Amino acid sequence: MIKLYPNPILKKVCEPYDLKQNEALLESLLRYMKAVLYAFDGVGLAAPQIGDAKRIFVIDITKSGTERQAGTNFMVFVNPEILESTGEVNSEEGCLSFPGASAIIKRASLVRVKCDYPIYHGETELEAEGLLARVIQHEMDHLGGKTLIDHVGKTQQYFIRKNVKKNVKNELMRQKSFATIISKVLQGENNG
Ligand SMILES: [Zn+2]
Repeated sequence: MIKLYPNPILKKVCEPYDLKQNEALLESLLRYMKAVLYAFDGVGLAAPQIGDAKRIFVIDITKSGTERQAGTNFMVFVNPEILESTGEVNSEEGCLSFPGASAIIKRASLVRVKCDYPIYHGETELEAEGLLARVIQHEMDHLGGKTLIDHVGKTQQYFIRKNVKKNVKNELMRQKSFATIISKVLQGENNG
C-alpha cells in the first residue's frame, strides 16, 4: 500500500506518464490513489508512494467535513511542471511515507503549475498559495526522488529515522485495516 521510508522507490526520479497510451489505466490509478489518500486522511499522495514511479500526484487540502467526504476539492496532477515560484515560508511538514516524523521546511509561498491532464474542474493550470502551494512542492519533491529527510541536517535525519522505525509496526497494522476499507470503496464505485 503506502511505501514507507526507506523504501528505495522513494528515491527514484519518476517517469512522465504516457497519456496517449494509458488514459484508461490512468482513471483506475487515480481512483485507487483517491481511495488511499482519503483512507489515510492525507492531504497529498504521489504515485511513487504507492509503488508506481510515474509523474502523478493527488491532493485534497480540505481538513474534514462534507466537502472532503464528497471529494469536491480533489485535485489531480499528471506530468506537473512548476512554471513560477515566488516568496519563501517555513512550516512543518509530515509525510505518509514517514509515520510519526515531521520537519520544518522552507518552501516558496506561491507557485504556478501546469499539467498534461485537468487538475480540477477542467483546468490544466493553477496558481496556488498557502498550504496548497506547500503540498504541491512536497509532492513535486516525491516525483524527483526527494523526501522531507533530504531537507534537513544530519542530526535531524537521525531523529526522523528513529521515529519512523518506532512507528513502522503500528503503521503496517493500520495499513492492513485500511486495505479492506479501500477495496470496499473501489468495489462500491465499480458497482455504482
Ligand atoms: Zn510525502
